Amino acid sequence: MMRKPCAQRKALLHTPIPLKRRSPVIPFAEALQIVLTHARPTERVEQVPLLAAYGRTLAEALVAAENIPIANNSAMDGYAVRSADVGNAEQCHRAPLRVVEVLAAERASTRTLGPGEAMKIMTGAPIPPGADAVVMVERTRAEGRTVWIEAPAQAGQHVRPAGGDMRAGQRVLPAGTRLEAAHLGLLASLGHAQATVAARPHVGVLATGNELVPPEQTLSAGKVRNANSYTLCALAEAAGAEVEFLGIAPDDRPSLAATLRRELARVDVLVTSGGVSMGDFDYVKHLVAELGLNVHFREVNVKPGKPVVFATQGARLFFGLPGNPVSSMVSFQQLVRPALRKVQHARNTGLRTLRAAIGEPYSKGDGKRHFLRGMLSTDGDGRPRVRLTGAQDSNILTSMGRANCFVVLDEACSAVAPGDAVDVQLFEGEDFAAVQGPAE
Ligand code: AMP
Ligand code: MG
Repeated sequence: MMRKPCAQRKALLHTPIPLKRRSPVIPFAEALQIVLTHARPTERVEQVPLLAAYGRTLAEALVAAENIPIANNSAMDGYAVRSADVGNAEQCHRAPLRVVEVLAAERASTRTLGPGEAMKIMTGAPIPPGADAVVMVERTRAEGRTVWIEAPAQAGQHVRPAGGDMRAGQRVLPAGTRLEAAHLGLLASLGHAQATVAARPHVGVLATGNELVPPEQTLSAGKVRNANSYTLCALAEAAGAEVEFLGIAPDDRPSLAATLRRELARVDVLVTSGGVSMGDFDYVKHLVAELGLNVHFREVNVKPGKPVVFATQGARLFFGLPGNPVSSMVSFQQLVRPALRKVQHARNTGLRTLRAAIGEPYSKGDGKRHFLRGMLSTDGDGRPRVRLTGAQDSNILTSMGRANCFVVLDEACSAVAPGDAVDVQLFEGEDFAAVQGPAE
Protein backbone atom coordinates (compact mmCIF):
# COMPACT_ATOMS: atom_id res chain seq x y z
CA MET A 1 0.00 0.00 0.00
CA MET A 2 1.27 3.50 -0.87
CA ARG A 3 2.09 5.72 2.07
CA LYS A 4 0.56 9.15 1.92
CA PRO A 5 2.75 12.22 2.45
CA CYS A 6 2.74 13.28 6.07
CA ALA A 7 0.83 16.52 5.72
CA GLN A 8 -1.90 14.82 3.77
CA ARG A 9 -2.14 12.00 6.32
CA LYS A 10 -2.41 14.50 9.12
CA ALA A 11 -5.15 16.42 7.33
CA LEU A 12 -7.02 13.17 6.84
CA LEU A 13 -6.85 12.41 10.53
CA HIS A 14 -8.55 15.65 11.43
CA THR A 15 -11.24 15.59 8.79
CA PRO A 16 -13.60 12.81 9.62
CA ILE A 17 -14.34 10.69 6.61
CA PRO A 18 -18.10 10.57 5.98
CA LEU A 19 -19.34 8.11 8.53
CA LYS A 20 -21.71 6.40 6.16
CA ARG A 21 -18.79 5.13 4.06
CA ARG A 22 -16.48 4.40 6.95
CA SER A 23 -18.88 2.52 9.15
CA PRO A 24 -21.66 0.41 7.79
CA VAL A 25 -24.27 -0.78 10.23
CA ILE A 26 -23.12 -4.29 11.01
CA PRO A 27 -25.21 -7.19 12.29
CA PHE A 28 -25.07 -7.81 16.02
CA ALA A 29 -23.53 -11.27 15.63
CA GLU A 30 -20.68 -9.76 13.62
CA ALA A 31 -20.14 -6.99 16.18
CA LEU A 32 -19.94 -9.52 19.00
CA GLN A 33 -17.55 -11.66 17.00
CA ILE A 34 -15.27 -8.66 16.40
CA VAL A 35 -15.32 -7.73 20.07
CA LEU A 36 -14.55 -11.28 21.19
CA THR A 37 -11.72 -11.56 18.69
CA HIS A 38 -10.03 -8.48 20.13
CA ALA A 39 -10.72 -9.25 23.78
CA ARG A 40 -7.87 -11.62 24.56
CA PRO A 41 -7.52 -13.54 27.83
CA THR A 42 -5.17 -11.54 30.01
CA GLU A 43 -1.71 -12.87 30.73
CA ARG A 44 -1.88 -11.24 34.14
CA VAL A 45 -2.74 -13.95 36.60
CA GLU A 46 -2.77 -13.56 40.37
CA GLN A 47 -2.93 -15.67 43.50
CA VAL A 48 -5.66 -14.50 45.82
CA PRO A 49 -6.67 -15.87 49.22
CA LEU A 50 -9.84 -17.97 49.03
CA LEU A 51 -11.81 -15.41 51.02
CA ALA A 52 -11.13 -12.89 48.25
CA ALA A 53 -11.69 -15.30 45.38
CA TYR A 54 -15.49 -15.39 45.25
CA GLY A 55 -16.66 -14.28 41.79
CA ARG A 56 -13.15 -14.31 40.31
CA THR A 57 -12.33 -16.46 37.30
CA LEU A 58 -10.04 -19.44 37.64
CA ALA A 59 -7.03 -19.03 35.34
CA GLU A 60 -5.90 -22.64 35.45
CA ALA A 61 -7.71 -25.95 35.77
CA LEU A 62 -8.09 -27.35 39.27
CA VAL A 63 -6.69 -30.89 39.31
CA ALA A 64 -7.03 -33.07 42.41
CA ALA A 65 -3.59 -33.93 43.81
CA GLU A 66 -5.05 -36.55 46.14
CA ASN A 67 -8.17 -38.54 46.85
CA ILE A 68 -10.97 -36.74 48.65
CA PRO A 69 -11.92 -38.20 51.02
CA ILE A 70 -8.39 -39.30 51.69
CA ALA A 71 -9.50 -42.66 53.20
CA ASN A 72 -12.60 -44.83 53.43
CA ASN A 73 -14.69 -43.32 56.19
CA SER A 74 -18.03 -43.60 57.88
CA ALA A 75 -21.11 -41.89 56.47
CA MET A 76 -22.96 -42.39 59.77
CA ASP A 77 -22.60 -42.28 63.51
CA GLY A 78 -22.80 -45.98 64.41
CA TYR A 79 -20.66 -49.10 64.63
CA ALA A 80 -17.98 -50.27 62.25
CA VAL A 81 -18.46 -54.03 61.78
CA ARG A 82 -17.47 -56.99 59.66
CA SER A 83 -20.56 -57.52 57.52
CA ALA A 84 -20.06 -61.27 57.74
CA ASP A 85 -20.71 -61.05 61.49
CA VAL A 86 -24.09 -59.34 61.19
CA GLY A 87 -25.38 -60.26 57.73
CA ASN A 88 -28.51 -62.03 59.08
CA ALA A 89 -29.00 -60.01 62.22
CA GLU A 90 -32.49 -58.88 61.33
CA GLN A 91 -34.15 -62.25 60.66
CA CYS A 92 -33.65 -64.46 63.68
CA HIS A 93 -31.20 -63.26 66.27
CA ARG A 94 -29.61 -60.00 67.01
CA ALA A 95 -25.83 -60.15 66.82
CA PRO A 96 -23.92 -59.15 69.96
CA LEU A 97 -20.50 -57.69 69.25
CA ARG A 98 -17.73 -56.61 71.60
CA VAL A 99 -16.96 -52.87 71.36
CA VAL A 100 -13.18 -52.59 71.30
CA GLU A 101 -12.63 -48.90 70.50
CA VAL A 102 -14.42 -45.58 70.04
CA LEU A 103 -13.45 -43.66 66.89
CA ALA A 104 -14.02 -39.91 66.84
CA ALA A 105 -14.04 -38.25 63.41
CA GLU A 106 -10.33 -37.50 63.46
CA ARG A 107 -9.22 -40.89 64.79
CA ALA A 108 -7.73 -43.53 62.53
CA SER A 109 -7.51 -46.87 64.38
CA THR A 110 -4.33 -48.86 64.06
CA ARG A 111 -6.03 -51.97 65.31
CA THR A 112 -7.60 -54.53 62.96
CA LEU A 113 -11.19 -55.43 63.74
CA GLY A 114 -11.42 -59.13 64.58
CA PRO A 115 -14.39 -61.53 64.32
CA GLY A 116 -17.15 -60.70 66.83
CA GLU A 117 -15.81 -57.18 67.35
CA ALA A 118 -17.16 -53.71 66.59
CA MET A 119 -15.86 -50.17 66.96
CA LYS A 120 -18.10 -47.28 67.78
CA ILE A 121 -17.52 -44.81 64.96
CA MET A 122 -18.49 -41.20 64.31
CA THR A 123 -19.35 -39.73 60.92
CA GLY A 124 -16.18 -39.06 58.95
CA ALA A 125 -13.89 -41.31 60.99
CA PRO A 126 -11.71 -43.67 58.91
CA ILE A 127 -13.04 -47.21 58.64
CA PRO A 128 -10.69 -49.41 60.71
CA PRO A 129 -8.82 -52.24 59.02
CA GLY A 130 -10.91 -55.41 58.99
CA ALA A 131 -14.25 -53.58 59.05
CA ASP A 132 -16.25 -53.30 55.83
CA ALA A 133 -19.58 -51.81 56.89
CA VAL A 134 -21.20 -49.40 59.33
CA VAL A 135 -24.48 -49.95 61.14
CA MET A 136 -26.16 -46.70 62.07
CA VAL A 137 -26.49 -46.14 65.80
CA GLU A 138 -30.30 -46.08 65.58
CA ARG A 139 -30.23 -49.77 64.54
CA THR A 140 -28.18 -50.88 67.57
CA ARG A 141 -28.49 -51.16 71.32
CA ALA A 142 -25.48 -50.80 73.59
CA GLU A 143 -25.10 -52.73 76.86
CA GLY A 144 -21.84 -51.97 78.61
CA ARG A 145 -19.02 -53.08 76.28
CA THR A 146 -21.41 -55.06 74.13
CA VAL A 147 -23.49 -53.74 71.26
CA TRP A 148 -26.53 -55.53 69.87
CA ILE A 149 -26.82 -55.10 66.12
CA GLU A 150 -30.47 -55.06 65.08
CA ALA A 151 -30.12 -54.74 61.30
CA PRO A 152 -28.16 -56.58 58.64
CA ALA A 153 -25.20 -54.92 56.93
CA GLN A 154 -23.99 -55.41 53.37
CA ALA A 155 -20.30 -54.93 52.65
CA GLY A 156 -19.72 -51.25 51.91
CA GLN A 157 -22.86 -50.07 53.70
CA HIS A 158 -22.50 -46.49 54.96
CA VAL A 159 -18.86 -46.47 53.92
CA ARG A 160 -17.73 -43.43 51.96
CA PRO A 161 -14.94 -44.67 49.71
CA ALA A 162 -11.60 -42.90 49.39
CA GLY A 163 -11.74 -40.67 46.30
CA GLY A 164 -15.54 -40.89 46.24
CA ASP A 165 -15.80 -37.12 45.81
CA MET A 166 -12.57 -36.40 43.90
CA ARG A 167 -10.00 -38.86 42.65
CA ALA A 168 -6.28 -38.02 42.53
CA GLY A 169 -5.54 -36.76 39.03
CA GLN A 170 -9.15 -35.80 38.29
CA ARG A 171 -9.75 -32.42 36.61
CA VAL A 172 -12.25 -30.97 39.05
CA LEU A 173 -12.75 -27.48 37.57
CA PRO A 174 -11.78 -26.24 34.12
CA ALA A 175 -9.88 -22.99 33.66
CA GLY A 176 -12.34 -20.19 33.08
CA THR A 177 -14.73 -21.21 35.86
CA ARG A 178 -16.27 -18.28 37.65
CA LEU A 179 -15.71 -19.13 41.29
CA GLU A 180 -18.96 -19.65 43.15
CA ALA A 181 -19.33 -20.78 46.77
CA ALA A 182 -19.05 -24.52 46.03
CA HIS A 183 -15.93 -23.97 43.93
CA LEU A 184 -14.21 -22.27 46.86
CA GLY A 185 -15.10 -25.34 48.94
CA LEU A 186 -13.52 -27.59 46.30
CA LEU A 187 -10.32 -25.52 46.30
CA ALA A 188 -10.16 -25.61 50.10
CA SER A 189 -10.86 -29.36 50.19
CA LEU A 190 -7.97 -29.95 47.82
CA GLY A 191 -5.54 -27.97 49.96
CA HIS A 192 -5.50 -24.64 48.15
CA ALA A 193 -5.51 -21.66 50.49
CA GLN A 194 -5.30 -19.45 47.42
CA ALA A 195 -6.80 -19.49 43.96
CA THR A 196 -5.01 -18.71 40.72
CA VAL A 197 -7.30 -16.24 38.99
CA ALA A 198 -7.20 -13.90 36.04
CA ALA A 199 -6.40 -10.30 36.95
CA ARG A 200 -9.43 -8.04 36.94
CA PRO A 201 -9.40 -5.67 34.00
CA HIS A 202 -9.10 -2.03 35.00
CA VAL A 203 -12.18 -0.37 33.51
CA GLY A 204 -12.67 3.40 33.37
CA VAL A 205 -16.21 4.73 33.01
CA LEU A 206 -16.57 8.24 31.59
CA ALA A 207 -19.83 10.07 30.95
CA THR A 208 -19.83 12.74 28.26
CA GLY A 209 -22.29 15.56 27.74
CA ASN A 210 -22.58 19.28 28.49
CA GLU A 211 -26.05 18.71 29.88
CA LEU A 212 -24.92 16.30 32.57
CA VAL A 213 -24.82 17.20 36.24
CA PRO A 214 -24.00 15.02 39.24
CA PRO A 215 -26.91 13.37 41.11
CA GLU A 216 -26.82 15.83 44.00
CA GLN A 217 -27.39 18.83 41.75
CA THR A 218 -30.78 20.55 41.27
CA LEU A 219 -32.17 20.26 37.75
CA SER A 220 -33.02 23.11 35.46
CA ALA A 221 -34.36 22.88 31.92
CA GLY A 222 -31.77 21.21 29.69
CA LYS A 223 -29.94 19.55 32.52
CA VAL A 224 -29.85 15.80 33.03
CA ARG A 225 -28.45 13.98 36.02
CA ASN A 226 -25.67 11.62 35.16
CA ALA A 227 -27.26 8.19 35.50
CA ASN A 228 -25.07 6.23 33.11
CA SER A 229 -21.88 6.36 35.14
CA TYR A 230 -23.64 4.57 37.96
CA THR A 231 -25.38 1.92 35.89
CA LEU A 232 -22.23 1.22 33.90
CA CYS A 233 -19.91 1.12 36.91
CA ALA A 234 -22.27 -1.38 38.55
CA LEU A 235 -22.46 -3.55 35.43
CA ALA A 236 -18.67 -3.48 35.04
CA GLU A 237 -18.21 -4.51 38.65
CA ALA A 238 -20.72 -7.31 38.22
CA ALA A 239 -18.70 -8.47 35.22
CA GLY A 240 -15.65 -8.78 37.46
CA ALA A 241 -13.82 -5.57 36.58
CA GLU A 242 -11.92 -3.22 38.82
CA VAL A 243 -13.89 -0.10 38.07
CA GLU A 244 -12.87 3.52 38.11
CA PHE A 245 -15.45 6.28 37.98
CA LEU A 246 -14.02 8.98 35.72
CA GLY A 247 -16.76 11.57 36.13
CA ILE A 248 -18.28 13.76 33.44
CA ALA A 249 -16.47 15.20 30.43
CA PRO A 250 -18.02 18.14 28.59
CA ASP A 251 -18.68 18.11 24.84
CA ASP A 252 -15.62 20.19 24.17
CA ARG A 253 -13.50 18.72 21.42
CA PRO A 254 -9.97 19.61 22.62
CA SER A 255 -10.59 18.84 26.28
CA LEU A 256 -12.46 15.65 25.42
CA ALA A 257 -9.55 14.58 23.22
CA ALA A 258 -7.13 15.22 26.09
CA THR A 259 -9.32 13.30 28.53
CA LEU A 260 -9.68 10.32 26.22
CA ARG A 261 -5.94 10.24 25.52
CA ARG A 262 -5.08 10.45 29.21
CA GLU A 263 -7.53 7.76 30.30
CA LEU A 264 -6.70 5.43 27.44
CA ALA A 265 -3.12 5.44 28.64
CA ARG A 266 -4.18 4.39 32.14
CA VAL A 267 -6.92 1.79 31.86
CA ASP A 268 -7.33 -1.58 30.15
CA VAL A 269 -10.85 -0.84 28.99
CA LEU A 270 -12.35 2.62 28.56
CA VAL A 271 -16.13 2.85 28.46
CA THR A 272 -17.75 6.16 27.61
CA SER A 273 -21.40 7.09 27.22
CA GLY A 274 -22.79 9.71 24.89
CA GLY A 275 -21.29 11.49 21.92
CA VAL A 276 -21.46 8.65 19.40
CA SER A 277 -24.69 9.55 17.62
CA MET A 278 -25.44 11.95 14.76
CA GLY A 279 -25.57 15.22 16.76
CA ASP A 280 -23.35 18.21 16.05
CA PHE A 281 -21.59 17.76 19.38
CA ASP A 282 -21.11 13.99 19.21
CA TYR A 283 -17.32 14.13 19.17
CA VAL A 284 -16.40 10.82 20.75
CA LYS A 285 -16.81 8.76 17.62
CA HIS A 286 -14.52 11.10 15.64
CA LEU A 287 -11.93 11.51 18.36
CA VAL A 288 -11.10 7.85 18.86
CA ALA A 289 -9.98 7.56 15.24
CA GLU A 290 -8.08 10.84 15.48
CA LEU A 291 -6.29 9.58 18.57
CA GLY A 292 -4.96 6.70 16.51
CA LEU A 293 -7.21 3.92 17.71
CA ASN A 294 -8.27 1.21 15.35
CA VAL A 295 -12.02 1.68 14.95
CA HIS A 296 -13.80 -1.60 14.21
CA PHE A 297 -17.40 -0.46 14.04
CA ARG A 298 -19.58 2.52 14.82
CA GLU A 299 -23.09 1.21 14.33
CA VAL A 300 -24.74 -2.09 15.08
CA ASN A 301 -28.10 -3.25 13.78
CA VAL A 302 -29.81 -3.41 17.18
CA LYS A 303 -32.45 -1.57 19.13
CA PRO A 304 -31.82 0.10 21.43
CA GLY A 305 -28.14 0.94 21.14
CA LYS A 306 -27.46 1.30 17.42
CA PRO A 307 -24.65 3.86 17.68
CA VAL A 308 -21.82 2.14 19.52
CA VAL A 309 -18.14 2.56 18.81
CA PHE A 310 -15.67 -0.24 19.32
CA ALA A 311 -12.01 0.56 18.91
CA THR A 312 -8.74 -0.94 20.03
CA GLN A 313 -5.17 0.10 20.64
CA GLY A 314 -3.11 -3.04 21.10
CA ALA A 315 -4.76 -5.01 23.88
CA ARG A 316 -6.58 -1.90 25.11
CA LEU A 317 -10.29 -1.77 24.38
CA PHE A 318 -12.50 1.24 23.86
CA PHE A 319 -16.29 1.19 23.92
CA GLY A 320 -18.18 4.36 23.07
CA LEU A 321 -21.70 3.60 24.23
CA PRO A 322 -24.75 5.67 23.36
CA GLY A 323 -26.01 8.29 25.80
CA ASN A 324 -29.57 7.17 26.34
CA PRO A 325 -29.61 5.38 29.66
CA VAL A 326 -31.18 2.13 28.46
CA SER A 327 -29.16 2.04 25.24
CA SER A 328 -25.92 2.30 27.16
CA MET A 329 -26.95 -0.53 29.51
CA VAL A 330 -28.01 -2.76 26.63
CA SER A 331 -24.79 -2.09 24.72
CA PHE A 332 -22.79 -2.80 27.83
CA GLN A 333 -24.47 -6.10 28.56
CA GLN A 334 -24.37 -7.27 24.97
CA LEU A 335 -20.88 -6.17 23.94
CA VAL A 336 -18.77 -4.89 26.84
CA ARG A 337 -19.65 -7.60 29.33
CA PRO A 338 -18.64 -10.44 26.99
CA ALA A 339 -15.32 -8.69 26.40
CA LEU A 340 -14.68 -8.26 30.13
CA ARG A 341 -15.55 -11.89 30.77
CA LYS A 342 -13.32 -13.09 27.95
CA VAL A 343 -10.38 -10.97 29.16
CA GLN A 344 -10.82 -12.74 32.50
CA HIS A 345 -10.58 -16.17 30.83
CA ALA A 346 -14.28 -16.92 31.34
CA ARG A 347 -15.68 -19.89 29.45
CA ASN A 348 -19.15 -18.38 29.35
CA THR A 349 -19.17 -14.78 28.23
CA GLY A 350 -22.89 -14.23 27.66
CA LEU A 351 -25.83 -13.83 29.99
CA ARG A 352 -27.74 -16.99 30.90
CA THR A 353 -30.28 -17.66 28.17
CA LEU A 354 -33.51 -19.62 28.28
CA ARG A 355 -36.79 -19.83 26.42
CA ALA A 356 -40.00 -18.42 27.83
CA ALA A 357 -43.52 -17.73 26.63
CA ILE A 358 -44.05 -14.02 26.05
CA GLY A 359 -47.08 -12.44 27.71
CA GLU A 360 -48.03 -9.79 25.17
CA PRO A 361 -47.83 -9.10 21.46
CA TYR A 362 -44.92 -7.12 20.05
CA SER A 363 -44.21 -6.19 16.47
CA LYS A 364 -41.21 -4.74 14.72
CA GLY A 365 -40.52 -4.22 11.06
CA ASP A 366 -37.05 -2.74 11.06
CA GLY A 367 -34.96 -5.89 10.61
CA LYS A 368 -32.97 -5.06 13.75
CA ARG A 369 -32.25 -7.28 16.71
CA HIS A 370 -34.33 -5.99 19.61
CA PHE A 371 -33.44 -6.27 23.26
CA LEU A 372 -36.65 -5.70 25.23
CA ARG A 373 -36.92 -5.26 28.97
CA GLY A 374 -38.81 -8.11 30.59
CA MET A 375 -39.74 -9.75 33.88
CA LEU A 376 -39.21 -13.48 33.85
CA SER A 377 -41.37 -15.52 36.19
CA THR A 378 -43.27 -18.78 36.14
CA ASP A 379 -46.93 -19.32 35.38
CA GLY A 380 -49.21 -21.63 37.37
CA ASP A 381 -47.65 -24.72 35.76
CA GLY A 382 -44.13 -23.64 36.64
CA ARG A 383 -43.29 -22.87 33.00
CA PRO A 384 -41.14 -19.81 32.30
CA ARG A 385 -43.11 -16.80 31.22
CA VAL A 386 -41.90 -13.31 30.42
CA ARG A 387 -43.81 -10.03 30.45
CA LEU A 388 -42.53 -6.74 29.10
CA THR A 389 -42.02 -4.21 31.86
CA GLY A 390 -43.40 -1.12 30.15
CA ALA A 391 -42.40 1.46 27.55
CA GLN A 392 -39.42 0.31 25.52
CA ASP A 393 -38.06 3.73 24.48
CA SER A 394 -34.33 4.02 25.03
CA ASN A 395 -34.68 6.85 27.58
CA ILE A 396 -37.21 5.04 29.80
CA LEU A 397 -35.12 3.78 32.67
CA THR A 398 -38.08 2.79 34.86
CA SER A 399 -38.90 -0.19 32.66
CA MET A 400 -35.27 -1.27 33.00
CA GLY A 401 -35.58 -0.95 36.77
CA ARG A 402 -38.51 -3.37 36.77
CA ALA A 403 -36.80 -5.87 34.48
CA ASN A 404 -34.82 -8.96 35.38
CA CYS A 405 -34.08 -10.01 31.81
CA PHE A 406 -33.86 -9.05 28.17
CA VAL A 407 -36.22 -10.54 25.65
CA VAL A 408 -34.22 -11.00 22.46
CA LEU A 409 -36.05 -10.78 19.14
CA ASP A 410 -33.71 -11.41 16.25
CA GLU A 411 -33.48 -9.57 12.95
CA ALA A 412 -35.82 -11.90 11.06
CA CYS A 413 -38.62 -11.80 13.61
CA SER A 414 -41.33 -9.29 12.70
CA ALA A 415 -43.94 -10.03 15.36
CA VAL A 416 -44.64 -12.22 18.35
CA ALA A 417 -48.03 -13.13 19.78
CA PRO A 418 -48.87 -13.94 23.41
CA GLY A 419 -47.68 -17.45 24.24
CA ASP A 420 -44.93 -17.51 21.60
CA ALA A 421 -41.61 -18.85 22.81
CA VAL A 422 -38.86 -16.21 22.86
CA ASP A 423 -35.22 -16.08 23.91
CA VAL A 424 -34.66 -14.51 27.29
CA GLN A 425 -31.34 -13.41 28.82
CA LEU A 426 -31.40 -13.35 32.59
CA PHE A 427 -29.58 -10.43 34.19
CA GLU A 428 -26.56 -11.23 36.29
CA GLY A 429 -27.41 -12.11 39.88
CA GLU A 430 -31.08 -12.60 39.12
CA ASP A 431 -32.45 -15.85 40.43
CA PHE A 432 -35.15 -17.19 38.20
CA ALA A 433 -36.59 -19.36 40.96
CA ALA A 434 -36.87 -16.33 43.21
CA VAL A 435 -38.97 -14.29 40.83
CA GLN A 436 -42.01 -16.53 40.65
CA GLY A 437 -45.28 -14.73 40.38
CA PRO A 438 -46.40 -11.87 38.23
CA ALA A 439 -44.49 -8.62 38.01
CA GLU A 440 -45.97 -5.88 40.17
P1 AMP B 1 -26.05 11.53 23.20
O1 AMP B 1 -25.83 10.13 22.74
O2 AMP B 1 -24.83 12.14 23.79
O3 AMP B 1 -26.67 12.36 22.14
O4 AMP B 1 -27.11 11.42 24.37
C1 AMP B 1 -28.39 10.92 24.11
C2 AMP B 1 -29.31 11.19 25.25
O5 AMP B 1 -28.84 10.50 26.40
C3 AMP B 1 -29.43 12.61 25.64
O6 AMP B 1 -30.78 12.90 25.96
C4 AMP B 1 -28.59 12.73 26.87
O7 AMP B 1 -28.98 13.75 27.73
C5 AMP B 1 -28.76 11.39 27.50
N1 AMP B 1 -27.57 11.07 28.30
C6 AMP B 1 -26.32 11.12 27.83
N2 AMP B 1 -25.45 10.78 28.81
C7 AMP B 1 -26.19 10.51 29.90
C8 AMP B 1 -25.87 10.12 31.23
N3 AMP B 1 -24.60 9.95 31.62
N4 AMP B 1 -26.88 9.93 32.09
C9 AMP B 1 -28.16 10.12 31.71
N5 AMP B 1 -28.52 10.48 30.48
C10 AMP B 1 -27.56 10.69 29.57
MG1 MG C 1 -24.26 13.96 24.29
